[in-house]
Amino acid sequence: MAKLERKFADFNLFQVAAETRNKDLRPWVPDLINHFWHCCQIANGNEDVLPARWRGALHHVTNVHEWISGDDAIEPKCELEELEEKEDDKWLEAGSPAHEALTHVMLDTRFLHNLHHYADFRHTGELETFHEHILVNCAKRFAYTYPVYKARNYLAGLDYQIHKERPFLMNKNGEFRLHRCFSK
Ligand SMILES: [Zn+2]
Repeated sequence: MAKLERKFADFNLFQVAAETRNKDLRPWVPDLINHFWHCCQIANGNEDVLPARWRGALHHVTNVHEWISGDDAIEPKCELEELEEKEDDKWLEAGSPAHEALTHVMLDTRFLHNLHHYADFRHTGELETFHEHILVNCAKRFAYTYPVYKARNYLAGLDYQIHKERPFLMNKNGEFRLHRCFSK
């Protein structure tokens, strides 16, 4: 989670959801983060689609899946896969403190102002993966002489390069195989 928090430096959903009066927001945090990256992906470089789709989540969380929109960037309704969700206990009441707080975060002027940077779906994930690769070979808690440090970095680079184009592991249903990671 820490990594996501860094990416969302100007997006304080985490802090807002941490407040007791907004606790109803907590189950939505992972969904909203995923929704954010999804919006970036489908925006396909279109700077109007991204905020329009993003704002749609404000309706979705209140169990409203079609709405009136002032712009025509998207069809003002949820995408099909969202509609299939059936988690009745999660819905927020429109105008409740949690929903108000979410509105405030999602429509934050500075945040919306920076959204266009994401419309091309570029993020630093790949660089972070590489950095973690270096840490595996060159853990920070040990001291190295310079040649050893250098060699270990080269090794990390080679290792990364060899594995980077490998296809993702799929399960028998053709879905990505994911597993939980635990920190040391
Ligand atoms: Zn919806």
